[in-house]
Amino acid sequence: MLKVENIVKKYGDVTAVDHLSFEVDKGEIFGLLGENGAGKTTTFRIIMGLLDATEGKVTLDGKKIDYNVTDKIGFVTEERSLMGKMTVEEQIIFYGALKGMSEEKSLRELDYWLEKFQIQDYKKRKIKELSKGNQQKIQFIQAVMNHPKLLILDEPFTGLDPINVELLKEAIYDLQKEGASIIFSSHQMEHIETFCEKLVILVKGHPILEGYVKDIKKAYRKKNILIEGIKDTKKLEKIEGVLSVTKNQNTYEVKIADEKVTDEVFKTIRNDKITKFVVEEPSLNEIFIAKVGEKNEH
Ligand code: ATP
Repeated sequence: MLKVENIVKKYGDVTAVDHLSFEVDKGEIFGLLGENGAGKTTTFRIIMGLLDATEGKVTLDGKKIDYNVTDKIGFVTEERSLMGKMTVEEQIIFYGALKGMSEEKSLRELDYWLEKFQIQDYKKRKIKELSKGNQQKIQFIQAVMNHPKLLILDEPFTGLDPINVELLKEAIYDLQKEGASIIFSSHQMEHIETFCEKLVILVKGHPILEGYVKDIKKAYRKKNILIEGIKDTKKLEKIEGVLSVTKNQNTYEVKIADEKVTDEVFKTIRNDKITKFVVEEPSLNEIFIAKVGEKNEH
């Protein structure tokens, strides 16, 4: 298990990470979310042991992360560590050797992953001849070829088209099944929402939302009701607990303060010719915006 305990990182006057704690269990996919400059890369560098925290500590299975455990960590960073003049095969053999793998074993892993990513034809091509997205896949292969315990992915989906995002997600699920702890960063909320069950959202280095996505959504009591077929929205606006009613094409979106208000909304419109009535959880993005607003008001 990866345990990050109350880490703080200061660069002079700038606090890049401000009292951040979280745990990533075996077989868990954890999302670190934040805008540019929120402190994601700094957090990763501290976890990888490349940077010392000003305060706090990081352990993997109870041990401090140092050179003894770094070969059990795979990472894909934003600065791509590929050597353009080498072929894909040469690069993987080179990195395999650094990880103590035989040439045969490295090539077996390479063939497996090239097939999975549907790029078998690139094996003997020079890295610099590959598209950015395909270079990203090679970097991923390099990070996972020795089946690391902990996999760190800094913005893994950036620059990939939707088909390749799905291929990469599937590959990450495979590693999750093997029991790896996976932590990845993103500034795109939708990737986190659909992909990981646990997350932390950083604003200026400080965690403002953390935990299991389902618990975060449950704790945030507001819900949205989508309705089609209502005639008069005024009567809805009068109900206590209805926060807003907005129209989007044929659908009305009614925001309510609490799930309990649903019954009252339904009673009020049940004589209309309703064709749709769906109670939805708010999106993570909506919760995030509300939380950031709250923080700024204090
Ligand atoms: P991005 O999404 O843009 O990669 P990030 O969330 O990874 O951003 P960091 O790179 O960790 O953010 O930066 C966090 C804060 O720390 C920023 O304000 C940044 O300017 C500052 N920072 C990062 N590295 C240094 C450094 N070496 N010296 C001084 N300040 C730094």
